[in-house]
Amino acid sequence: MRFYSTNSPQSTVSTKQALFQSMPADKGLYMPTPLPTLGVDFFTAIADQSLADIGFAISYALFGDEINKADLEELTHNAFPFETPVIQLESGKTSVLELFHGPSLAFKDVGARYMAALMSYFSKQSDKEVNILVATSGDTGGAVAMGFHNVPGVRVSILYPSGRVSELQEKQLTTLGGNIQAFEVDGTFDDCQAIVKQAFVDAELNAHLSLSSANSINIFRLIPQGFYYVSAYGQVQHYGKPVVFSTPSGNFGNLSAGAMVQKMGLPVAHFVAATNLNHVVPSYLKSGNYLPQASVATISNAMDVGSPSNFVRLAHLYNYDYNQFKTNVSGYFYDDEETRAGMKRIYDQYNYVSCPHTAIGIMGLQDYMTDSQQDVMGISLATAHPSKFKPLVEEVLGHPVEVPERLAELAHRSKKSIPIPAEYEAFKESFLQTV
Ligand SMILES: *Cc1c(COP(=O)(O)O)cnc(C)c1O
Repeated sequence: MRFYSTNSPQSTVSTKQALFQSMPADKGLYMPTPLPTLGVDFFTAIADQSLADIGFAISYALFGDEINKADLEELTHNAFPFETPVIQLESGKTSVLELFHGPSLAFKDVGARYMAALMSYFSKQSDKEVNILVATSGDTGGAVAMGFHNVPGVRVSILYPSGRVSELQEKQLTTLGGNIQAFEVDGTFDDCQAIVKQAFVDAELNAHLSLSSANSINIFRLIPQGFYYVSAYGQVQHYGKPVVFSTPSGNFGNLSAGAMVQKMGLPVAHFVAATNLNHVVPSYLKSGNYLPQASVATISNAMDVGSPSNFVRLAHLYNYDYNQFKTNVSGYFYDDEETRAGMKRIYDQYNYVSCPHTAIGIMGLQDYMTDSQQDVMGISLATAHPSKFKPLVEEVLGHPVEVPERLAELAHRSKKSIPIPAEYEAFKESFLQTV
């Protein structure tokens, strides 16, 4: 497998380089080539397989020529000790793909754990410490922190917007210690992301530090996210209906991962891009004009992204062709009031407790099904466990939400963060003191 930059498709780099470098020097985004085609037989065979088995089968198709089979099998199984079940809300019609059964209770565990496993595999071959920088709007940080905690040869620095993540999300980033440290930025997620991007092009920093990213600009976060789309397809294919996925989106890594496996042959009839008021992509789908905005704070904070990094990947996968994009993806967006009403309605209608992000996905799916009038099997990605947003969910539903043990125990740990203003130089100065 080789990787090319969306800005210069002619030249390619190795798997290891794309993994550690994260972003090409020309500031494009890496894409895998050639994408293997998974035929009909592949999908029939995986119907009853675990996420880890599916992950291994696809990994082998991708990296079988570079990583020894037994090592690849072991690292995939270590990365996925959990499943991603499809739960029917209305049998054969509307369902959710629960992606929150991993350690941080959000779908980002899938990408972060696989990437950590690959980095740990490749870093055994070198003696230089890898410094991972990651900006988080809420859930990435927790998944990355847990995925990389105690991985030898890797140090992780997480940047998060102060006061804009939930209390339990913050605990996930700030209480592990060891090789994980958190910078509490007095600004927005976009500020955090801008600082990280600047660090990658800072010649002075890169001269003596090996910097790497765990954001969804890193293609190795996205590749494993394709595995659960395949797993979901396997779980619903017996209904014999066209499959539509609805993805509650922010930085659009999740939807790009879906579009990538679609290109590998997964029979996806359509995607729904569901967002909160940060609706640049639904607006693009409507008007044909892509106009990034400053991010707006909402109750679905993990999707508060005004300028999604992965839009370029989606555009690239659809050949920079608006019509092709529109044929494959429909956009819907909801404000906070609609999101609250949606959470309540989903609970009343299906007895299903959803976090605000998941509710937006389900609403997008329902609205798409109403508008398109197609008889499809709709699968909405459930991106986080509702208890990660306990105060909000309880207020909206009017009854208590159970917190899984592994999250509940965090509440008692004490937070440790490094507060900084939203300025690159301030970050650089504090960061250099820690390495
Ligand atoms: C990160 C996140 C999203 C958005 O995913 P993208 O891949 O950035 O589009 C949605 N929901 C939750 C709970 C998240 O943590």
